Amino acid sequence: MGKLIKKARSLAKSFRVEDGRKFRLKDFDPDETLGLEHEEGIKDRAANLLQQGVDILAEMQEKLYAQDRWALLLIFQAMDAAGKDGAIKHVMSGVNPQGCQVFNFKAPSPEELDHDFLWRTSKCLPERGRIGIFNRSYYEEVLVVRVHRELLTKQKLPASLVTKKIWKERFEDINAYERYLTRNGIAICKFFLNVSRGEQKKRFLERLDNPDKNWKFSVADAQERGHWDDYMEAYEDMIRNTATDYAPWYVVPADNKWFSRLVVAAGIVEALDGLKLAFPKVDEEKRKELTAARIILEEEKP
Ligand code: ATP
Ligand code: MG
Repeated sequence: MGKLIKKARSLAKSFRVEDGRKFRLKDFDPDETLGLEHEEGIKDRAANLLQQGVDILAEMQEKLYAQDRWALLLIFQAMDAAGKDGAIKHVMSGVNPQGCQVFNFKAPSPEELDHDFLWRTSKCLPERGRIGIFNRSYYEEVLVVRVHRELLTKQKLPASLVTKKIWKERFEDINAYERYLTRNGIAICKFFLNVSRGEQKKRFLERLDNPDKNWKFSVADAQERGHWDDYMEAYEDMIRNTATDYAPWYVVPADNKWFSRLVVAAGIVEALDGLKLAFPKVDEEKRKELTAARIILEEEKP
């Protein structure tokens, strides 16, 4: 287990951004595989490695639950068809469903629009001992809302608060909020699945070609491609301003699903490993109770 954790740590490190100030998206290739794509049988080996990672995650999650001190919040952001759903499904496949909850955040409802932008996600934060997954999150505020300014109008903010500084202020508020959460025992780990425009096109065409995938295709998603450059700028600025040591971003190369899932698993292993999880130690009093329970059980008539 130690060896695998070490491997995960080194894989995670290549894609983790803890200080966004110098971050540039063009330094991160969506097609990156650290040269592994040339190795023979790599997809089978990657699947095998992922399975080992999934097993470790399951063990760690059990300790997280038993210890009941920390919670882990995993945030996933990406362009459409980058593979968020698949990554979540595969990486969390071994984890006890009782210890883990996934929330999807879509266009906000009228009720949600009547509240501050952190309200709807706050209600879904994981309890101690649990893993919470946000499939999209409050980061949509500095992505889709930034790209489509008219969405900001729908929020009915007081006019005096909507200035040129609004995105800078949103970043400050997100950073303060995430610091607050981590100081309250909610560890945070954020994943940007970085897919290329070409690969997205390929995946959209697959959705059109394959009747079983037709349901996944949406015309609106295809239209969003027209704003690709604006989105990339928004993502870059988001990571520049919100990658911190207490809530790092992983910029996950997402053109190869077998690789992106490994990186996501590695990031989660790294986050849980950092919490120094252990099963709670039984104290003297509890030990006496256990001994007494054993005696009662053994004395029971058959
Ligand atoms: P996904 O696209 O994540 O796989 P989906 O296709 O099931 O999920 P959609 O109905 O496409 O769900 O809803 C996601 C859409 O909601 C995205 O286009 C996203 O940009 C938008 N959205 C999420 N949060 C917000 C927000 N705060 N303001 C406006 N739009 C939002
Ligand atoms: Mg969608």
